[in-house]
Amino acid sequence: MNRPKGILIDIDGVLLQDGSPIHGSINKLNTLKEHCKIRLLTNTTTQTVSAIHLQLTSHGFLVEEKDIINAPLAAVSALKQLGLHRIHPIVDKRILSDFSEFEQDVHTPEAIIIGDIGDTWDYALLNTLFTQVMEGATIIALHKGKYWKKEGKLQLDIGLFVAGLEYATGKEALVTGKPSGPFFDAALQSLDLPAEEVVMIGDDIENDVEGAQKVGIKGILVQTGKYNQDFVERSNITPHKIIKSFNNFSLF
Ligand SMILES: [Mg+2]
Repeated sequence: MNRPKGILIDIDGVLLQDGSPIHGSINKLNTLKEHCKIRLLTNTTTQTVSAIHLQLTSHGFLVEEKDIINAPLAAVSALKQLGLHRIHPIVDKRILSDFSEFEQDVHTPEAIIIGDIGDTWDYALLNTLFTQVMEGATIIALHKGKYWKKEGKLQLDIGLFVAGLEYATGKEALVTGKPSGPFFDAALQSLDLPAEEVVMIGDDIENDVEGAQKVGIKGILVQTGKYNQDFVERSNITPHKIIKSFNNFSLF
């Protein structure tokens, strides 16, 4: 592997676990930053970019807000591109402000935005969303993750609800976070580097590694976070490299 000029790094499961830094990740990131361009690419949908930035800097990660790219930002640009104004956001209250330029319409939206709302999903809400999509609303999913890890246990992620709505309505969701191609393209644009000069480091074999590889970025898998050997073997995806943790990453 040639020395990369840019590194895309997933936050949850690579730099942080349950909000705390993973051993060695702060020094590693701060050192790497002196030698190449970095961007943090996250599917976290419960925090704004400035809240993520504050959390990272309070631990000692030397990052700037512009280094962080998240799925809500990508959803905003997708809505603009599609010319959709009236939205029904199913997202954590803390990120509602990211969508303040759009009109909230819970009855006849042009788009439904699916993010994380914890354990408040229920049949009535899903049925409302189903009806709105059947009546023409576009499904925009901040991501379509299958599972994540919290306090040592894998937990169901929102992909289940996105896939369920797609199945029931026969319409495909526009996924704005990882592993969508446009999300990785936006990161490359922000780095101002071609895909072949960039590597992606993540703990999710599909969202991070496969998503990156599909646009020509090398995908490196860490064995921290949600890493699970069985899932990796069953995925038929071959990372360019598997490393014990972000701390074991080397530029050479
Ligand atoms: Mg992760």
